[in-house]
Amino acid sequence: MPEFSMPKAYDFHQVEQRLYQQWNDAGHFRPRPAQGRQPFVISMPPPNVTGELHLGHAMFVAMEDLMIRYHRMLGDPTLWVPGSDHAGIATQLQVEKDLLRTEEQTREEIGREAFVERTWAWKAKYGGVITRQLRRLGASCDWDRERFTLDEGLSRAVREAFVRLYEKGLIYRGTYLINWSPGLKTAVSDLEVEYSEEQGQLYYFKYMIAGSDEFIPVATTRPETILGDTAVAVHPDDERYRHLIGKTCLVPILKRTIPVIHDTYVDREFGTGALKITPGHDPADYEIGQRHGLPIINLLNTDATLNENAGPYAGLDRYACRERLWADMQMAGLALKTEPYRMQVPRSQRGGEVIEPMVSTQWFVRMQPLAEPALAAVQRGEIRIVPERFTKVYFNWLENIRDWCVSRQLWWGHRIPAWYCEECEAMTVARDDPSQCSQCGSSHLRQDPDVLDTWFSSGLWPFSTLGWPESTPDLRTFYPTSVLETGYDILFFWVARMIMLGLEFTGKPPFHTVYLHGMIRDGQGRKMSKTLGNVIDPLQMMDEFGADALRLTLLTGSTPGNDVNLSLDRVEGNRNFANKVWNATRLVVGSVTRAEALPAAPNERSLADRWILARRQQVVNEVNRLFSIHQYGEAGRQVYEFFWGEFADWYLELAKLELEQGEPAASNATHTMAAVLDTCLRLLHPFTPFVTEEAWGRLRDACQLAQQGYGPQGGWEAALIVAAWPAAAPGDTLDQSALASFQVVQQLISAIRNVRAERGVDPKARIPAWIAAGEHAALVAEQSQALAALARLDPDRLQVSSGGVQPAEGAIPIVAANIEVFLALEQPADHAAERQRLERELSQARAQVTRLQALLESPFAERAPAQVVEKERLSLAFHLEAARKLDDQLALLGGQ
Ligand SMILES: [Zn+2]
Repeated sequence: MPEFSMPKAYDFHQVEQRLYQQWNDAGHFRPRPAQGRQPFVISMPPPNVTGELHLGHAMFVAMEDLMIRYHRMLGDPTLWVPGSDHAGIATQLQVEKDLLRTEEQTREEIGREAFVERTWAWKAKYGGVITRQLRRLGASCDWDRERFTLDEGLSRAVREAFVRLYEKGLIYRGTYLINWSPGLKTAVSDLEVEYSEEQGQLYYFKYMIAGSDEFIPVATTRPETILGDTAVAVHPDDERYRHLIGKTCLVPILKRTIPVIHDTYVDREFGTGALKITPGHDPADYEIGQRHGLPIINLLNTDATLNENAGPYAGLDRYACRERLWADMQMAGLALKTEPYRMQVPRSQRGGEVIEPMVSTQWFVRMQPLAEPALAAVQRGEIRIVPERFTKVYFNWLENIRDWCVSRQLWWGHRIPAWYCEECEAMTVARDDPSQCSQCGSSHLRQDPDVLDTWFSSGLWPFSTLGWPESTPDLRTFYPTSVLETGYDILFFWVARMIMLGLEFTGKPPFHTVYLHGMIRDGQGRKMSKTLGNVIDPLQMMDEFGADALRLTLLTGSTPGNDVNLSLDRVEGNRNFANKVWNATRLVVGSVTRAEALPAAPNERSLADRWILARRQQVVNEVNRLFSIHQYGEAGRQVYEFFWGEFADWYLELAKLELEQGEPAASNATHTMAAVLDTCLRLLHPFTPFVTEEAWGRLRDACQLAQQGYGPQGGWEAALIVAAWPAAAPGDTLDQSALASFQVVQQLISAIRNVRAERGVDPKARIPAWIAAGEHAALVAEQSQALAALARLDPDRLQVSSGGVQPAEGAIPIVAANIEVFLALEQPADHAAERQRLERELSQARAQVTRLQALLESPFAERAPAQVVEKERLSLAFHLEAARKLDDQLALLGGQ
């Protein structure tokens, strides 16, 4: 027999990097053409180029790599396109900060050209960090096709897209109310604004009717905007104010006259029933202003100080103005009262400063014509959103969509391809930089200084990365892509825009399935944050427990669209699972290399062999079914349970007995364990690629060396990453009788083990047993050796019959699977000590019961997440049951 050995312990440090390099060098990450098979393609959500790996990345890499590895094993031409995003604001801010820190200069001081150059240098230096980190997770993407949103090809795609939309009238430049970020000094889109509920004040004041003592009481949360009011609006049917409609009133302090108008938008029940209208600084007022043709007054400079329209308040900061104006109004007798008020404050998603609605000249994409086909594609089922409940959210958003402000006052990004003539002021929008004005031919042109929202380029990602607008072989072969997988938080930012732009430019939905995963929370379900100090660093996790352990935790903890609670204990537990895989493989490999030269004898298979092979088929069927409905987490949990709970804990223990029995049992057991291990490693590969590849390689080498014909039917593949995925088989081919019979044996063994454990019987002790097995007598007799080994019965004092056994006096009766078993448990010599042990355990169980009952009656039960409460309830039931059993045993032990 050739020698073959495996290291005792699995060392992921030594394995992970080496395997990744091997896969990459062998070209396994590139798509393999296959006749008659549809390609499977995922465009990776491009991480920020200067970002660092966080758990959000780890989640999408684990999930997408799982799908990619699965389809690769199915034999589909499989492509995962990686890349990174230039991330306009995020990157620019990083470079600005660095510039200030190292050279004490601002970007304005060094100028646009030098700043952009510096940002490219920054990208060159730090841009590789994130992609190296993705590799550590095992991401099997095709690095030859890696793209960057600002690279040459994608820049061409962005220009093409912009010009086409412009030519169709779907992009326009206009002056509208937008969200202004005073700190960043740029416009931001609606999606980049988050509303937080905060405590503020409602200020009540008088709008004096011109030339009279009468006034309309009005309330506002932002008094400084009074300076920009251009009307007061009331409801047309409001008795209190009807006689004032058409009159004019005076803006406090400024004494500008403005009209009293009526609009059914006004809610008579809310506040005073009268509204001040500031079209220049409030979205709802802007709409009313448009309806009534009201003038727009802009009060703010770009840094949110007041401008000349604020009269005496010009130059003040917005909040200083608020205080000063209110004080002046109090002095003038115009202030009525203030009261505390909970309000929704718009804050920047980046940085958190308060956003100001402001009128500004920007570029917009007309969304409604783009949204209609995007709605239809999902309605017609051409795109499916998983989980389905997000479909409603998607519809709702697209049905109420507003035009998208795409210009940003930044320097890092795709510059808007519009040029203004300095002679005639005409605008030229062009694919290539023009040298002449399209109107007057002048060469004095100035390019629009703004850049495009970073989501504009990422909206083109699925097709721009494949070569669009050229009709490249990649675009023809791999577009439309298959699945778009991402967190539900960017459904609108990114997914909806890709669908709209994909349909617009290619006429096809960019993917047929949108799979949304949840956010990652800590072990207690809390959001991870620096302030809570509960942020888990995926790199540290991988250093400590390995990439497989992290991946398995994220994947088996997830169901589509639901948040994932990640605890360190579980990552550690999954590190142990990788070790379990390794140890089981060592045992199988050891058997394979020691086995005699005999083929399997399928007609003489043992019950255990037949059972594990049938269970394998059930698990394969179930995993295939779960994968087809995107329940990857549940599939992973089932393979995990099968591998550990059935294959390793039961089957391998029984196989050891068969190996000792000689032929044909030994050969059958060896064939069976090699075959089931092979299948398990294949099923586990998408979850834990490293340990499975390494273990599978050892199994394959051992089987090939042994030359006993152990191995898959089609022969061994070059590597597990490209090995065939286990196929489902029709359920009626299952060996049902083996499943049923083995279940009886399992129940019997478990019941005996439980009693032994409850009674504190020495685990090594062999105990006598009498079994009245009724209809199962033949089965139990045949399995008596297995029974004796696994339940630690004394084989010389084991009696099995169909009924009427004569157990020794004092034997303890138990019933399992309708079989009666009497166990002659050795009575502990020291009754008092036994009694003490039971009493100690009982008091511990009762303490737990008291604690849990109190907990569940407290407000905790209403406040905590349902799953957590359920867990505590189960725990309570468990301790109650334990206490009951301990009570019974104490009674059995008799009085003192
Ligand atoms: Zn001109």
